[in-house]
Amino acid sequence: MKQVTRTDAPHPLNCSETKRSFYEDLYDETGTQVKKRWNVVRDALSEMSGHHCAYCGKKAKVEVDHFFPKNKRAAPYLAYCWENLIPACHDCNQRKLAFFPRSLSGKRIIESCAEGVVPHDLLYEKSTIMEIASNDRLLDPTFDRVEEHLTLDCEFFCYNSHTKIGEITKERFFGEAFERNLEKLSHLAKKLVSEKVTVDILNPIFDLYGDEFYLRAYYEYWYLENAEGRMR
Ligand SMILES: [Zn+2]
Repeated sequence: MKQVTRTDAPHPLNCSETKRSFYEDLYDETGTQVKKRWNVVRDALSEMSGHHCAYCGKKAKVEVDHFFPKNKRAAPYLAYCWENLIPACHDCNQRKLAFFPRSLSGKRIIESCAEGVVPHDLLYEKSTIMEIASNDRLLDPTFDRVEEHLTLDCEFFCYNSHTKIGEITKERFFGEAFERNLEKLSHLAKKLVSEKVTVDILNPIFDLYGDEFYLRAYYEYWYLENAEGRMR
């Protein structure tokens, strides 16, 4: 999972007036959510994460993931909330889809700019909402310190979870297929180290390869194992 530092909201999500009008027209006459064009927002998210999926860490064409989903039963009035948007690859977006913490279920959460547009139970203030859901939500790599919740276990090809949030996140994103892939990356990284392929040659490869986030971690792991005489 990639730690991401949140950047400033791009236009139009930095403008309360515009967003307020979006929320006023959230649904069409059939009750369906009106879709906005997301190119600018998607590009800003992609830029923010260095064009990686924030969940799995892969370099990818990112999609706009709503951390608290924008469907009617979850958090439709956070649909245009920049802090609720995460850059995600298609697979992670699908895996994540409608996940919504039970602790927030039935509560209408709105951004302050939508006050007066719809009634609400809670105004969105990120740290307050994340705290309310701290026992049954996913990890947000733009808000939480990833390593407090999940650390990569290079020896056993998996993530170790240290909190409830880490456990739920691991279950959702990092199952058996992910662990099998880690094992392959470990073998590849070990071979690169044993063949004495150095980082200056590897960096361009890391940048081209979809899994460079984990391959780099394994390369560093095996490099150290080798330097300390533990690689057989
Ligand atoms: Zn992903």
